[in-house]
Amino acid sequence: MEPFNFVESISVFDIFKIGVGPSSSHTMGPWRAMQRNIARAHRDSWFDQIVGVRVILFGSLAKTGHGHGTDIAVMMGLRGESVETVDTTQIGPLVAEIKKTGRLLLDGQKEIQFQPLSDIEFRFKETHPGHPNAVTVQSLLADGSVDEATYFSVGGGFVVKEGQQEAIERQQVTLPYYTEKADQTLAFCDDKGFTIADMVMQNELAWRPVDEIRGRLRQISRTMFECMWRGCHTEGILPGGLNVSRRAARLQKDLLPNAPKDFEGWLGALPEIGTGLSANLKAVSMFALAVNEENAAFGRVVTAPTNGAAGVIPAVLLYMFALLTPRPVDPWRAADEFLLVAGEVGSLFKKGATISAAVGGCQAEIGVSSAMAAAGLAHVMGATPAQSFMAAEIAMEHHLGMTCDPIGGLVQVPCIERNTMGATKAITAAEIALSSDPSQARVSLDDVIQTMWETAQDMNVKYKETSEGGLALQIPVAVPEC
Ligand code: SF4
Repeated sequence: MEPFNFVESISVFDIFKIGVGPSSSHTMGPWRAMQRNIARAHRDSWFDQIVGVRVILFGSLAKTGHGHGTDIAVMMGLRGESVETVDTTQIGPLVAEIKKTGRLLLDGQKEIQFQPLSDIEFRFKETHPGHPNAVTVQSLLADGSVDEATYFSVGGGFVVKEGQQEAIERQQVTLPYYTEKADQTLAFCDDKGFTIADMVMQNELAWRPVDEIRGRLRQISRTMFECMWRGCHTEGILPGGLNVSRRAARLQKDLLPNAPKDFEGWLGALPEIGTGLSANLKAVSMFALAVNEENAAFGRVVTAPTNGAAGVIPAVLLYMFALLTPRPVDPWRAADEFLLVAGEVGSLFKKGATISAAVGGCQAEIGVSSAMAAAGLAHVMGATPAQSFMAAEIAMEHHLGMTCDPIGGLVQVPCIERNTMGATKAITAAEIALSSDPSQARVSLDDVIQTMWETAQDMNVKYKETSEGGLALQIPVAVPEC
């Protein structure tokens, strides 16, 4: 199998996307597939002819679909809700309404009959030959004919229609510094005297003007920070039937008992946590737990580069923003640079390997996010481009072979804690790289990306987001149907 390494231009905003939990491949991907199919129906002028829709989930999408809320995502996508702006508190009531009435407002404008239990089929035993995460949409038309289209959810919320290259469906631009390998990025930086952030910014300018880039980067950082703030102030049991308790709020009470409860006040109080190792480890863990508890509860998160691993980068970013010594002179500007560098690393992994757990196990999620965070942090701490990529290499090297085995198909155990580990490894990797000479390194970032890809291909399928191996077998639970 070749990686889905389309020779394409990937923007930092393709890697970081504002969305909804709990899974980028199993929630956001199918959600977007439904929207893309509706857009096709509008474009080809048969939307008004639709009288019914059937959706078939294959492979990993079926096996862990209930736990990942794939059926809920399908309904939201068919309704035409936006993953970026939907009011996440309304998802539950909207789904309940569809189930109760057996009717769905397609794209918010055309009512059709829709019974989730029969119109969304989970083919647990059938894997599509095109990709482990496949969904087919059958649109029943008024004249009795059926339009059928299949989409692959290839990780990080990216969606490919069967028979098409992803690039065809996305805006194509010519980048001044297009790279597929880390060595090419380093060569451009060396040649032009760029930092990695400089080079990525030059590429981003091919898509949009600088003010828009800065605005979007700020929106990504702020959405991450707000997610951590919400997670740090929400207690209770996570949905799904596994009875997992939220822990971020408990840590918050321990670390910052008197912090203001409002977002800005909380953000401003974080430096009071101090600089001790124990306090910093607890704080970084609290940040990561907060994001992934929100993610598990269908909350608003930023895909980074996936939802299961959405806590690693925000945790390291907020550590940099509020706790790093010495503090960056302009923390918001430092956050922009962090994201640009982290995005470049994510893009290199997507082109050279995979960011899909259904293809590569958890090394493709937590491993990649840890590598991205390590490079971003090292850059802000003053690393050279080669040291930043060395940090990414170190972080991934110690995630190689990590399997995906979520208990009950829910993105909770081991996923939530695993984000804390990815974050702390990223900080360690950045510190090591900053005191190292990359010219002496025995393994390059390109080497470890290639190794991760080969490891992905050797990995038994039961460890690739199927919940058929590892912890998922040791701790069997019957998760009720959503
Ligand atoms: S085990 Fe890792 S890859 Fe699998 S769902 Fe959890 S976080 Fe994602």
